[in-house]
Amino acid sequence: MKHQFVIIGGGVHGCAAAWLLADAGEDVLLLEADEIASGASGGFGRRGVRANRRDLRELPLMRAAYRIWPMLAERLGADTGYERTGGLSLIEQETTGTRGGLVAARVHADVQRRLGVPTEVLDRDRLLELEPDVGPAVRAALYCPLDGAADHTATTRAFAAAARERGAAIEEHSPVTAVERSGDRVTAVRTARGERHEVGEALLLLNNTGAIDLLRDQFDLEPPVWRILPQALRVVPKAAPPMSHLIGHDHRSLSLKALPDGRVMVSGGWRGRWNTGLGRGETVEANVLGNLQTAAEVYAGLADAELDLADAARPESCSADEIPIVDIVPGTANALVGTGWTGHGFAIAPAVAEALAFWARTGARPDSLAPFSFARF
Ligand SMILES: Cc1cc2nc3c(=O)[nH]c(=O)nc-3n(C[C@H](O)[C@H](O)[C@H](O)COP(=O)(O)OP(=O)(O)OC[C@H]3O[C@@H](n4cnc5c(N)ncnc54)[C@H](O)[C@@H]3O)c2cc1C
Repeated sequence: MKHQFVIIGGGVHGCAAAWLLADAGEDVLLLEADEIASGASGGFGRRGVRANRRDLRELPLMRAAYRIWPMLAERLGADTGYERTGGLSLIEQETTGTRGGLVAARVHADVQRRLGVPTEVLDRDRLLELEPDVGPAVRAALYCPLDGAADHTATTRAFAAAARERGAAIEEHSPVTAVERSGDRVTAVRTARGERHEVGEALLLLNNTGAIDLLRDQFDLEPPVWRILPQALRVVPKAAPPMSHLIGHDHRSLSLKALPDGRVMVSGGWRGRWNTGLGRGETVEANVLGNLQTAAEVYAGLADAELDLADAARPESCSADEIPIVDIVPGTANALVGTGWTGHGFAIAPAVAEALAFWARTGARPDSLAPFSFARF
């Protein structure tokens, strides 16, 4: 069977691209190894939709994403759980390394503002008006009123459902194991189920950590990308959630999101480990305790919160310079890849998908994707 566009990966990136291509009238097949939203785009809680302290090269995409997110549920005809809560990066230290602390706050705010991201420096008094329960060590914050959070699983499934409605074929439990080529063109893919799907126009590798293996085995490329296992915790506070904004931290590994049911998602850079026997990621007790302890040090109201769920089974790809690779696969004319999201690929996904769908259909790379080339390595 031949399809003009074949997409590998049913996470937020693959499903969003499938939706936009199908919406433009294109013939699309999406192949997912497991189930829709079974990778980094799935699981409990919410993901931050944040520009605050994001790598500056990603801000054009994030500005576009800021415009898309508030209208997305209506366009998809399904709830995304998106909420513009405003986001705060809390500051405790005078100086943190070379990039943080009070000394850098004004410059970060100025630069972000100039790049189209409304940002203010709040002193402690103004911060307390927004977050009255924040701990005494917090001296200031960088505030982005347009930041927020969304339900990643619901959003990914909504993209997939909308793609199907517009005629895209989606096959789950269909891992792609081989890519056929003729010269510089990808002509077909094969799945572990023994199926062969011909590629008319383009192949999109949007399979996150799975792209590492396919690039290595099928394209003879060694991408500067590796796999991590981000840790996410869900806790039940004794009282109402002590925070109402998307919370990040200038020097601590901490991210906090109040969930709609009163529970709180705690994450922010702690990792799990790979269990070879189980063939999946698992949590590390010291990291769970460390993450909880850090949360309680910043919000005392979380000190006696009960741990409800801990997960580190959703692999994410990281790149050598902490921004993604979104590019034509070197040596090919019609294979595009998006990987190396480095823990912050969800928020920009609707904007990346627009840019990628445009690139796949026209052959012209949008300027917003220029920083994410293979050539930079
Ligand atoms: C705990 C955690 C917290 C995070 N927090 C944030 C946040 O607050 N804000 C933010 O912006 N981002 C965040 N991220 C990152 C974000 O979730 C990811 O960058 C994003 O979801 C990646 O989407 P994706 O579609 O590329 O990958 P995935 O969702 O991983 O989807 C890839 C899919 O490809 C499939 N696949 C793999 N190989 C093959 C193959 N050979 N054939 C067919 N299918 C294949 C997999 O089964 C998988 O379903 C977080 C990630 C985690 C894990």
